[in-house]
Amino acid sequence: MTQATYMVHALPAFYDNYIWVIERCSDGHVVVIDPGDATVVLDWLAEHSFTLKAILITHKHADHIGGIAKLTQFTPVPVHGNLTSSHLITHGISVGDEIEVIGLKMQVLDLKGHTLDHIGFFATAENNIPEPWLFCGDTLFSAGCGRLFEGSPSQMLTALDKIAELPRQTQIYPAHEYTCANIQFALHVNPGNAELHNYASVCHQQRAKGLRTLPTTLAMELAVNPFLRCQDQEIISIVCQHLNKTDANSRLSVFTSLRAWKDVFKTN
Ligand SMILES: [Zn+2]
Repeated sequence: MTQATYMVHALPAFYDNYIWVIERCSDGHVVVIDPGDATVVLDWLAEHSFTLKAILITHKHADHIGGIAKLTQFTPVPVHGNLTSSHLITHGISVGDEIEVIGLKMQVLDLKGHTLDHIGFFATAENNIPEPWLFCGDTLFSAGCGRLFEGSPSQMLTALDKIAELPRQTQIYPAHEYTCANIQFALHVNPGNAELHNYASVCHQQRAKGLRTLPTTLAMELAVNPFLRCQDQEIISIVCQHLNKTDANSRLSVFTSLRAWKDVFKTN
């Protein structure tokens, strides 16, 4: 295996956010993704003597951009993102662009759906990292997906389809630890999925030990995430039962119903 020259760190923030940080191991230069809370990042940088070199933003929600002002006051670094996400973005990027931060090349993916400005950052394995990485903000969560605050179900499904086409070994870094709650809904709509049952027990054990369930992999999400499995016969028939319908006429209608159902589904 190629020697990794980059590492990803998780900084827990607020109740269930993760601020992901990429470190270039040779010099301690780091890039922070979606710093909702500056204090968490500043304390961590000081503790490890790391140097902040850039900030990446996936979308405009406060728990993703809230720390930009204070961080850039301390260290005036470039802030890469969609210009509509924050007036503090210094380097506006468009979907399809490739950016380079601390020597790491990342493709900018259009992931609108949760919000209309939402983008994702994808680093291929050509960057001398063992597997590709995707930082997807609030688009895909493990065993779930983001709520539709601005986008349509069709836009979100398109974003998820784009993620589903990435290499299966891609390590996926969502911005929230929602996995166990998402699994409750996933088991409700896909109870016959043996891999999902296994995953549920692994994730519950992780959380019981106070450990993260993330990152996840695309291969795992394709196996357990109902929002990536709208073609699954069991999911289709359970959605139809729920809606009192005999048949679902498309993947989009299954996805739309699943998303609406999840919005009102009570987890314990
Ligand atoms: Zn959000």
